[in-house]
Amino acid sequence: MFELHKVGERTYYVEAPTNMGIYRYGEKEVCMIDGGSDSAAAREALSRIEEQGWTLKLVLNTHSHADHSGGCAYLKEQTGCEVYAPKTEASIITSSLLNPTYLYGGYPMSELRTKFLYMQPCECGALSAEILPKGIEYVMLNGHSFEMAAFKTSDDVWFIADAVMSVETLTKYKISFLYDIAEHLRSLERLKTLEGKLFIPSHSKPLEDVTELADYNRRSVIEVADSIKELCRGGISLDGLLEKLFQLYNIRLYLTQYALVGCTTRSYLAWLYERNEVRPVFEGTSLTWKTVE
Ligand SMILES: [Zn+2]
Repeated sequence: MFELHKVGERTYYVEAPTNMGIYRYGEKEVCMIDGGSDSAAAREALSRIEEQGWTLKLVLNTHSHADHSGGCAYLKEQTGCEVYAPKTEASIITSSLLNPTYLYGGYPMSELRTKFLYMQPCECGALSAEILPKGIEYVMLNGHSFEMAAFKTSDDVWFIADAVMSVETLTKYKISFLYDIAEHLRSLERLKTLEGKLFIPSHSKPLEDVTELADYNRRSVIEVADSIKELCRGGISLDGLLEKLFQLYNIRLYLTQYALVGCTTRSYLAWLYERNEVRPVFEGTSLTWKTVE
């Protein structure tokens, strides 16, 4: 863990539960792609950078989830580096209570205000082409989060963040976190059109070809949506639906998981609603979700 892997003339990554990219754009100047899950992970990455005699100048975050941006405050404090993320995500990194707040859908209780969801806030600027170091470009692959950037280095290496989950992760958790299903499906198609030598997801090994995994991720989304439609056939409340999904996919229930799967399930309902596949049924003061037959 935390080894430095060289994957191109100027491109490296530090292997971790959330991989961190490193790109050397000057003689000694480097940028990181994602700031790590917390200060401990960030410290390891910074040690790898300093061992090489390099200087960290900026961090480009793919998105605001705590496991990707939780180390930014530490990195900025230690090095004075600049920190950037796509605009909406930059707001969340700067005001990080927003993260557990939107996941839970209200003020989050203390169990949801730990580093897994509520990272140390860090002043973060909006990502744009102008701030990029020479040799880096990006495309947006939204859906997993409000906005998510995938970065490509001059070595034709893509850092694709959480645009795809591994087969192992999807088999284990089944419902992986998604904010906007329609955008996510569009991003999976876009991902398949990207050209590069290597694709590095945040939570699994690098891949030379991402097409098969993108298709697997698409099928997994459709499978979850089909399960939700099946469970809504007789009409079911949101909490009833969550209970059934937790049973069906054997997911352990605790508050963090309730927030993550709850947010994702609401997003699935919104997507199915827009496709006219489920509808809300109001009976007196009860709201149930029912599949349109
Ligand atoms: Zn994420």
